[in-house]
Amino acid sequence: MPEGDNVYQAARRMQAALGGKRLAASDFRVPAFATLDLAGWTVLEVVSRGKHLLHRLAPPAPDGGPSPSPEGRLSIHSHLSMEGSWQVYGAGERWRKPAHTARAALRAEDGTSAVGFSLGVLEVIPTAEEGSVVGHLGPDLLGPDWDAARAEANLRAEPERAVGLALLDQRNLAGIGNIYRCEVCFLGRVHPATPVGRVPDLPGIVAMAKRLLEANKARPRNTVGGFGPRNSTWVYGRAGQPCLRCRTRIEHATLAEPTPGTGPLLGETRERDIWFCPSCQPLL
Ligand SMILES: [Zn+2]
Repeated sequence: MPEGDNVYQAARRMQAALGGKRLAASDFRVPAFATLDLAGWTVLEVVSRGKHLLHRLAPPAPDGGPSPSPEGRLSIHSHLSMEGSWQVYGAGERWRKPAHTARAALRAEDGTSAVGFSLGVLEVIPTAEEGSVVGHLGPDLLGPDWDAARAEANLRAEPERAVGLALLDQRNLAGIGNIYRCEVCFLGRVHPATPVGRVPDLPGIVAMAKRLLEANKARPRNTVGGFGPRNSTWVYGRAGQPCLRCRTRIEHATLAEPTPGTGPLLGETRERDIWFCPSCQPLL
């Protein structure tokens, strides 16, 4: 499952590849947008918002350049969900994923292209209406809107909820997936099932999440690489192995989500596996 820093990096790569360029072709392989043609449109910027991606485009002005007016601009909204990715290719380069999993392809006039594979969400909306798809998100750990006090207040609004579930809920703060959720709880010495109201140092947990994402946002990392010694995770995926701090065996469990029915646009709360050290992270 992509974490906020993966999505942030994807946005940066596409911004570098396509930002400011005019598209020669677009191809949307979802029924609702199959006939949409953005040839001639200019990619103004590509940004991440939590785990969502937004390609913002301007229509062509009569002189062929991007229309300076904010009116009429479109945003390609995508979410990677569990398996999705966006990849950048040079002119003529072969795709590294099966073509039948491609959902969107954008090719600039210089031949550079970005292709979205197995995207969980793909839609094209007026840029002015982005709030309808990302407005529910809490402050973005890697975004210009980051606000630690507001994130903490959002978490505290449900004091009985397990902190390990509250941290995954993108309405509280945006950008944490399961790896960060488990690692932040370990580093904060709190069991993921601890109710938010009983976490001794909630501001410390929020600050830890921010530090980890910031530290990793520019660093290439595969989906299992971590933050502990030798790029291992501290606890994530390490059931039965010794704790890197105290040698106690790491345990695996699942957390029951008391508020089912949230989809990929909300909390990704379907992923409930947790890993923890029973000694370092006693249940409070
Ligand atoms: Zn331990």
